[in-house]
Amino acid sequence: MIDAHCHLMDIEGINIDDYRGLERIANCGYDLKSSENALLMKKAHSDFLYCIVGASPQKCMSAKSKDEVEEIERLAIENKDDVDAIGEIGLDFHWADTSEKMELQRGLFRRQIMLAEEMGRPIVIHARDAVKECIHELKNFGGNVQFHFFSGSVDEAREIADRGWYISIPPLRGKERVKAIASVDISHITAETDAPAVGKTPLDVRRAIEIIAETKGVSFEEADRATSENAKRIFG
Ligand SMILES: [Zn+2]
Repeated sequence: MIDAHCHLMDIEGINIDDYRGLERIANCGYDLKSSENALLMKKAHSDFLYCIVGASPQKCMSAKSKDEVEEIERLAIENKDDVDAIGEIGLDFHWADTSEKMELQRGLFRRQIMLAEEMGRPIVIHARDAVKECIHELKNFGGNVQFHFFSGSVDEAREIADRGWYISIPPLRGKERVKAIASVDISHITAETDAPAVGKTPLDVRRAIEIIAETKGVSFEEADRATSENAKRIFG
């Protein structure tokens, strides 16, 4: 099993060895501090963790956000060998309630897409009420993309898969999400926990894999194998 998206730096009293039953964990930053933490953890457990650094759209809505993104760029470039992807980045129009905030998000999203392009790294997307807009911004991106905690429509899921990208499924069964899972090939789906926000720990990825297996009508083992292979295809 691979947890293709979580935040280990936010799990209190964490002991990484508790999760050794998993094959790998994708540990994702969302601002400077969490990205620094993801890098430190990666250096200590490089065979087990993927390290993703970036500034999420919720952290890209103030005048100071640009400075933080610049710091993250420096961190990513200086530690290139330990950085497996840029994320979670994107657009969140649930939290951006003014056009100024939306424009700030968009500008720093574009900048971080360029960073991923320059570094030859995949992108982990955070899109809330903005899946279509994120797909549009990624039109010219040459690398791999994972839509973390996918919450778009069936059409959007199909477009993501058609582009060769991935939707990532949390351990939460939703009507729309189940339809999205049903509408794309299992070779374009990863399983995640978003722990500690949704799953408590990365071990809860089992529940996400169960949802995928049931929806696809395949065994747990088959869904596990497919989603793990997909995560490795994205993150290396
Ligand atoms: Zn997350």
